[in-house]
Amino acid sequence: MYNSVRGFLRLTHKLSYQQLVRNQGKAGFFTSAWKMVDKVDKAELRKKLTPIQYNVTQEKGTERPFTGCYDKTFEEGTYVCIVCEQPLFTSKSKFDSGCGWPAFNDVLDKGRVKLSPDTSGGRIRTEVTCSKCDAHLGHVFDDGPPPTRKRFCINSASMNFIPSNKAGDS
Ligand SMILES: [Zn+2]
Repeated sequence: MYNSVRGFLRLTHKLSYQQLVRNQGKAGFFTSAWKMVDKVDKAELRKKLTPIQYNVTQEKGTERPFTGCYDKTFEEGTYVCIVCEQPLFTSKSKFDSGCGWPAFNDVLDKGRVKLSPDTSGGRIRTEVTCSKCDAHLGHVFDDGPPPTRKRFCINSASMNFIPSNKAGDS
């Protein structure tokens, strides 16, 4: 059932893409095709993600504190990006910060996230995004515990948790 729905959606995308190509003059073709790709990706994501997952990862939203499903998760495992499934954090560096969001002392590997200055809301913070798909994950602060003193404050909605005992299953 799920597969046939996805197949149908893919087909409709293909049709509308072909229609677009047919209706475009040569000059506008490349820009329109480019915009179309972006639009299709966002449309796919809207179907794949829940509203809060979409809001957090694509619109830099923040889930309300203490509402995320992984705030109090301390089982062993890996946290992967909800959008592209890149492994981002491990349970080994997760700690209970009490702030209402999952908190990590470190990233699984430095290259897994991108850090950029964020001055929205009248505060100076460092935004954390997925290095592979640019999904917004949360922010990092310098008030964490040793050894890194970092507190990666990450929205549950931006991640999927894979328990260790299920690693390797697919
Ligand atoms: Zn990602």
